[in-house]
Amino acid sequence: MGKLLIKNGRVVDPANKVDAVRDVLAENGRIAGVAENIRANSAKVIDAAGKIVLPGLVDMHVHLREPGREDKETVASGTKAALKGGVTSVLAMPNTTPSIDSAENVSFLKEIIKSTASANVFIAAAITKGREGKELTDIAELKKLGIAAITDDGSSLDPDKLMLEALKKAKANGMLAICHCEDKKLSNHGCVNSGIISTRMGLKGISRESEYKRVERDIDLAAKAGSAVHIAHISCRESVEMIRRAKKNGAKVTCDVTPHHFSLTEEAVLGFDANFKMNPPLRSKEDVSAIREGLRDGTIDAIASDHAPHTENEKEIEFERAEFGVIGLETELAAAITELLDQGILDWPGLVEKMALNPARILGIDKGTLSIGRDADIVIVDPDKAWIVRREGLVSKSKNCAFLGRELKGAVEYTICSGKVAYGIHS
Ligand SMILES: [Zn+2]
Repeated sequence: MGKLLIKNGRVVDPANKVDAVRDVLAENGRIAGVAENIRANSAKVIDAAGKIVLPGLVDMHVHLREPGREDKETVASGTKAALKGGVTSVLAMPNTTPSIDSAENVSFLKEIIKSTASANVFIAAAITKGREGKELTDIAELKKLGIAAITDDGSSLDPDKLMLEALKKAKANGMLAICHCEDKKLSNHGCVNSGIISTRMGLKGISRESEYKRVERDIDLAAKAGSAVHIAHISCRESVEMIRRAKKNGAKVTCDVTPHHFSLTEEAVLGFDANFKMNPPLRSKEDVSAIREGLRDGTIDAIASDHAPHTENEKEIEFERAEFGVIGLETELAAAITELLDQGILDWPGLVEKMALNPARILGIDKGTLSIGRDADIVIVDPDKAWIVRREGLVSKSKNCAFLGRELKGAVEYTICSGKVAYGIHS
């Protein structure tokens, strides 16, 4: 394999406390040097003057839909969308058909990844068989297969006892449990945030309680089990406050938030556009402010897209019947630049922490840094370039994006995966 030299970019690598103009050399697929004025014979050279050079993003919440719903997305199309968004590693959620709940299904998915993925795909397996919340999967066996985390994403495990047992097993096997926090009795088939907007629209609401009660429970159970727990896609003020308090008290809890939850409020659903229907739902202005504060003060560790592709048939129908979820791989970096960086909530090192370093650390994978010897997964970003999100430009098989028509700032120019240019505006 050849050499790749990225010259004169502003390199942002918080793991190594680097934020300065540097050259980056990749050799044989790995980072070989980060320094001033690197010379390398016979290297392919990319001039990154005026650009930002980051470790490839790590998105810890992605639905690739394969196996089972290849009409929505595949490992091939989803990883291409990831690369276009500057994401070099994704954690694939187990809500597939069949769900990823056994050694056999893991092996099947691994084969698909091996033959079709163009970015790194890590696998999350289900906590319970069929994600039915009844019987635990074989967590020890899944660990041996290299599973990065377990989650019943899309639902929460109702029985406290079973959840406690899952967390104990996770702890015993050095496995991370990721929790979708939702008490379905409290969310009660709602489809938007419950409040004035849901009343005005005549739609059933999803209370904030349905989320934060489960956040509280799962943090408590994790403490009992002595395990770590990661809370996915938090959406409301109380969840942020609860996690902040728990962290202060020494709890081993981490959490992430999606770009739509830090950018948009429930007002977006007033036009009955199902591209604003997601679970958890878009919340109030007050919740969005709390989330931004949580990102700023470090309560929220990571940003993850919750990339959830759906076909037009499943989205362009009555709001109540439409599927929950939106795509996000191609817009997450630009959304973070536009909504967080430009508004002074995060600086560049902070953004890289949330989108690359922290998710890698939470998952315990060797990604998210430009340390010498690590895989050369690198993104080159034009921080000032504005672009409008258009469906024709989207690489994902599904086009259910909450940012359609919006102008975002910050464009990925190159995504390099293991030292090779996997996406480039000029290639
Ligand atoms: Zn979820």
